[in-house]
Amino acid sequence: MATKKYKNKINRIRTFALALIFIGFVIMYGAIFFRENHLLVIIFMTLGLLAIIGSTVVYGFIGLLSTRAVQVVCPNCGKHTKVLGRVDMCMYCNEPLTLDPALVGKEFNQAYNSKKSQQ
Ligand SMILES: [Zn+2]
Repeated sequence: MATKKYKNKINRIRTFALALIFIGFVIMYGAIFFRENHLLVIIFMTLGLLAIIGSTVVYGFIGLLSTRAVQVVCPNCGKHTKVLGRVDMCMYCNEPLTLDPALVGKEFNQAYNSKKSQQ
């Protein structure tokens, strides 16, 4: 199977949310190195907390997107996956999937999701 450079959108946002939690903890951990300076500790703790809160918001956003995504059975791996927008990737095998019959069989192109191509 050829390597596909695009990933399922929901999975991609989820990865971002996970990274944000990780960054938040790293920033908060960084506060330890500035424990002599209370102001810096407060700043680092606040930034870390903001990153973690941001991640929670992103997770909430994923929940919202999931309700708008269309659940389909992937023709490639047979698993249930969610399609967001006109074209998206299977969450499990990255098979390009489309909801638009006009695009079936065409080479996957991220541009199909842009507003310009939607007349
Ligand atoms: Zn699949």
